[in-house]
Amino acid sequence: MNEFELIRRYFWFSKNALPAPDLGVGDDCALLSIPPDCQLAVSTDTLVSGVHFPADGPPGLIAQRALRVNLSDLAAMGASPLGFQLALSLPASDETWLRQFSEGLASDAAAFGCPLVGGDTTRGPLAVTITVMGAVKKGRALRRSGARVGDSVYVSGTLGDSAGALHCLKGEVVSDFLSNRYWLPTPRMALVDLLVAFANSAVDISDGLLQDLGHILTASASLCSSSLAARVALESLPLSPQARACFGEDKAREHALFGGDDYELCFTVSSKNEAALLDGLGARAEQVTKIGVIVESPVPEVTVIDGAGDVLTIERTGYDHFG
Ligand code: ADP
Ligand code: MG
Repeated sequence: MNEFELIRRYFWFSKNALPAPDLGVGDDCALLSIPPDCQLAVSTDTLVSGVHFPADGPPGLIAQRALRVNLSDLAAMGASPLGFQLALSLPASDETWLRQFSEGLASDAAAFGCPLVGGDTTRGPLAVTITVMGAVKKGRALRRSGARVGDSVYVSGTLGDSAGALHCLKGEVVSDFLSNRYWLPTPRMALVDLLVAFANSAVDISDGLLQDLGHILTASASLCSSSLAARVALESLPLSPQARACFGEDKAREHALFGGDDYELCFTVSSKNEAALLDGLGARAEQVTKIGVIVESPVPEVTVIDGAGDVLTIERTGYDHFG
């Protein structure tokens, strides 16, 4: 099977998908029309075998995870999917592996309405790079820099499940729920409309809550006259019953604060918009939890307050590839 057959067989599955690109896989470039009054939101994430997923992981799940991690960035900006590109580096053209990878990718591309419009296929160590493109109404994208003093800090879903799942991957803990939370994170596309309407800032939590909320503080401080800090209540962190059961309250909270790979959203909302946001959530099956507030402070830091009202001493913040 040569490179072109491989692409035709495994990566030409979005031919009739919606939203349809003007031109998809097969030419030198894909062509996409951006809806009127919208901006193009673009983001890339690379998943390297042995770093971001185990080399012997299920190919379908590797594909789904790679796409979902990218979609999470679109959700964090308030953008809706237009399509994605896949740059795949493969050690060999293993047909069983490629078939499962392709099936996983195709099913999520369809489920999230994000067609595969092109990419690149090379031989090399296993790595999956996806560039996702989305549309967001001009000027309405949610940035990290929009947090203001007095905003409430919210997170979606539950935190720390993926950090717990790493213990599953090592065989120390058995929990299908936690494993699924690692392999199949849920990009919170279902919150996009409400966040665009009511949130001031957002970030997706890929490197741990403390680190990613810290990004909101630094980005927002550069647009404010004062520095901002976040006060987070330890007891308010949303934990899954499964994380609690497997690790106990303390360890589960530690995972929630420091653990990476959650791909939940952290966002801030002014008190003026809070009721409207919660109202809009109404009967949707989306969990959001208020975990803290943005305050004025000379030091742009996230402080965590325990049940007794004491500030926890934090020694590390989150995952850093070069740290
Ligand atoms: P070029 O040599 O012009 O860069 P390629 O031979 O790399 O083009 O790719 C041929 C076509 O197949 C292009 O449309 C490209 O976008 C698409 N393609 C290549 N690899 C992938 C892939 N892994 N997934 C989806 N489309 C791909
Ligand atoms: Mg070309």
